[in-house]
Amino acid sequence: MEKWPIGVFASVDAGLGVKLEVAHELGVPTIQLHAPAKATRTQKNADAFLSRLNQYGIELTCVFGGFEGESYADIPTVSRTVGLVPPETRAERTKEMKEIADFARMLGCKTVALHLGFVPHDTGSSLYQEVLEVTRDVCDHCKKNGQNLHLETGQESADGLLQFIGDVKRDNLFINFDPANMILYGTGEPIEALRKVGSYVRSIHCKDGKWAKNPGQEWGQEVPLGQGDVGMENYLRTLQEIGYEGPLTIEREIPQEPDRQKSEIGHAIRLLNELKAKIG
Ligand code: MG
Repeated sequence: MEKWPIGVFASVDAGLGVKLEVAHELGVPTIQLHAPAKATRTQKNADAFLSRLNQYGIELTCVFGGFEGESYADIPTVSRTVGLVPPETRAERTKEMKEIADFARMLGCKTVALHLGFVPHDTGSSLYQEVLEVTRDVCDHCKKNGQNLHLETGQESADGLLQFIGDVKRDNLFINFDPANMILYGTGEPIEALRKVGSYVRSIHCKDGKWAKNPGQEWGQEVPLGQGDVGMENYLRTLQEIGYEGPLTIEREIPQEPDRQKSEIGHAIRLLNELKAKIG
């Protein structure tokens, strides 16, 4: 793979990403895929999807798990509903995450990722231990599939994430770095965070955001790439510095406005190509 191929976050059925046709029209060579609903996760659909990818010349670089009942409405709702942290849904979602990893394997994809949820800060708490256990369980399942598991950033500070990954103690656990999420959740300055966690970063999102008035208590605002507080040139220079050469996967979470989503992703592609030419 060339250095820094452009990518886009895509969906098969429901989800936050663009449709595969849109990725093709935009001319991107790679996608990350939001895992489709259970009924869609069959070998037959995997084969059909793979043949469309081949036809378009698009490489699938990562499959993202997501679950029924998750809501990103505000920070307390995320804490209550997202990922494998909430105890009520954990067993069922863990099973589903393994099924998603198996679907990714059908697609020949060696990377699966997810928002784990808010990892408790108290490393001595029983909830923290439970989240360690469930993460090991999913990592071990992925390992059998020959896959790595990437944790999406945002809900933890860089230090919190390093502590957690160290405590999980699995060699196939890495990071999908999303600089905008650090801003949206108010968990730390993204460039500084990227330097700290750099050695674990194996995939990334290109997304932008503006700080909230009270970071960590209320949401920041997701904005088109280049218009927020991340600083895209600095972001790419820092990716260069940590030796990251994988896809630059654009994520713009406005699936309810597909025309605007497509046009803004088009702008993002142009911006990233300009920066790539400049930075190399
Ligand atoms: Mg993201």
